[in-house]
Amino acid sequence: MNVIRHFIDGAETESSSGARFDTVDPWTREPWAQVALGGVEEVDRAVTAARRAFDEGPWPRMGYAERGAILHRLADLIIEHADELALADTTDMGKPLVDARNNDVPRSAQNFRFFADHARLATGEVLPMDTGHHAYTMFEPAGVVAAIAPWNFPLMLETWKIAPALAWGNTVVLKPAEDTPASATILAGLASQAGMPPGVLNVVHGYGPASVGAALTADGRIDRITFTGESGTGKAIAAAAAAHLTPVSLELGGKGANVVFADADLDTAVNWSVRAVFSNAGQVCLAGSRLYVQREIYDDFLAKFVTAAESMRTGDPKLPQTQVGPLASESHWKKVRSYLDDIGAGGSTMRTGGLGEGWAIRPTVVTDLPPDARLWREEVFGPIVVVAPFDSEAEAIAAANGTCYGLNAMLFTENLSRAHRVASALRAGTVWVNCFFIRDLRAPFGGVGDSGIGREGGTFSREFFTEPKAVLVAVDGADDAAQ
Ligand code: NAD
Repeated sequence: MNVIRHFIDGAETESSSGARFDTVDPWTREPWAQVALGGVEEVDRAVTAARRAFDEGPWPRMGYAERGAILHRLADLIIEHADELALADTTDMGKPLVDARNNDVPRSAQNFRFFADHARLATGEVLPMDTGHHAYTMFEPAGVVAAIAPWNFPLMLETWKIAPALAWGNTVVLKPAEDTPASATILAGLASQAGMPPGVLNVVHGYGPASVGAALTADGRIDRITFTGESGTGKAIAAAAAAHLTPVSLELGGKGANVVFADADLDTAVNWSVRAVFSNAGQVCLAGSRLYVQREIYDDFLAKFVTAAESMRTGDPKLPQTQVGPLASESHWKKVRSYLDDIGAGGSTMRTGGLGEGWAIRPTVVTDLPPDARLWREEVFGPIVVVAPFDSEAEAIAAANGTCYGLNAMLFTENLSRAHRVASALRAGTVWVNCFFIRDLRAPFGGVGDSGIGREGGTFSREFFTEPKAVLVAVDGADDAAQ
């Protein structure tokens, strides 16, 4: 059996108790590796190492260029080990290997390259003042960062947090999701190989409540907590962080609205709408899981959409033709399956979909659902979309905004004015127009309402992972003269 260990202070290590837990391959439904199960003691070791690396070590004191060179070397090593990293995520959580290999891994390397360059090239502000002084800004590393990650894009979302934190000179303790530990330990080994000093990037495996997650968020030596996961967990983490006034960045759940107007290019809208909700078996915070289609094209759109959903190949995620793998774990599959049981109530209809093999669920399209049904309101995090017609633009905007979440929304129209008008009216951290998933790493990423607190990306990541400082200088001796 494979063994996945913690990575603390530059070396792989077991828990001092020797405790381990199994990680299960959701396609075979069998354990494929044993994982070191951390606790308070491992968190203490990791935070102590990260603290020492920050307070005394070379990492925060290196120039941006030297740190950046190490981060670029790490990006090179990620690409060299792309097959191994992709297989780790696929075996842990069942995403199609092709997606892990072609999307998640290259994007993870890109996260390091982008934030290394962004930090090196960033400028501060000089604020000339009328009083004979000037002010300028500095961005100093915040200290030790705790990064707590979910299982849906394991390596990609971990690196989205680690890369800016490291590029700005912080040290990190990462807690991967318990369902997806493998790629994080590989990553930490590669970081060490790239020349990252011991203690700069540490990985501790374990669970959330009453385990590694809770121990990390309770540790007063942590300077920043960056978390991606469920909104309920985000609230627990914010409460824990409040005890030490530790700043938190929370990227939480979503219930993305996808609005298709009658003047949209139908094929473009169908293609993106299918990808928006069925990619990664719908286990995407950004999933377009509420689909509103203008009545004039509703029947045409639905026919094409259902055909496209039915053509998606569900099955073994390691096979190159597979587009929809199993759900990530048995408990998650049970949760998503419970939503299938709701369909039929209140006149709702399953147009296509249903249970697949093992823990797979086929792309599922639901119509005629009563507006108060939980499928409209709750984040399913599976390949289930609800579709409804609308008549006016105002009605579509009200429906799209009728959620406690606000991570993202999509709209499809060929009318330029409408595109801008509706994009502005939608209450969401990101709005896509005639596309989906496209990212610019300089742009703010995060959500409104229950979808989170704060933004990351570009200068937004800098703001969070540094302590911005103002320095005010008397330029012409005005203060001396006043004495
Ligand atoms: P989760 O909240 O169950 O777990 C996320 C991480 O938090 C795991 O590592 C878990 O062990 C840890 N954790 C759980 N309880 C904790 C506690 N009390 N203290 C500290 N750590 C704790 O989420 P998940 O099921 O892994 O991921 C799915 C969720 O993540 C969905 O809601 C999805 O929308 C969200 N998500 C959001 C984004 C985004 O960018 N906004 C991206 C991906 C996923």
